[in-house]
Amino acid sequence: MKKLSLHEKYMKQALNQAKKAYQQGEVPIGCVIVYQDKIIGRGYNKRKKEKSPLAHAELIAIKKASKTLGDWRLEDCSLYVTLEPCQMCSGAIVQARIPKVFIGCQNPKAGCAGSILDLFHVAEFNHQVNVEHGVLAEESQALLKQFFQELRKHSQQIKEKTST
Ligand SMILES: [Zn+2]
Repeated sequence: MKKLSLHEKYMKQALNQAKKAYQQGEVPIGCVIVYQDKIIGRGYNKRKKEKSPLAHAELIAIKKASKTLGDWRLEDCSLYVTLEPCQMCSGAIVQARIPKVFIGCQNPKAGCAGSILDLFHVAEFNHQVNVEHGVLAEESQALLKQFFQELRKHSQQIKEKTST
């Protein structure tokens, strides 16, 4: 087996978070925040369970990391997320002054780290974010693909049941 780099190792932890979301019937997206080689915040998508559009993996992890450090600024932290962040989460990352973000796969339908917008490199903002794309991208993508395939199969079965 190929040896994982440090960044891949943390992305694996984010993927573990995404798998928790999957098991709970949520779109599998996970996030961890690292400070001095330690994970200080974890989060996975809980939008359905919390019935909240705010319950994204990144926001949950940011909340926890801020609590752990006792500071709203996460200036010396790195954030790992399995899917390119949306406009809300990219905004929160800029607000939290996180300097470095590692992203799994791209999100052409909602991504704001380059796909639709690039909120991490707006010169007029007082903070820019260093980004690395494609960390264990295949694994993140495969998990999402599997989730939506199962979802479609499931809704197809329900349709068939209700129509007979
Ligand atoms: Zn988001």
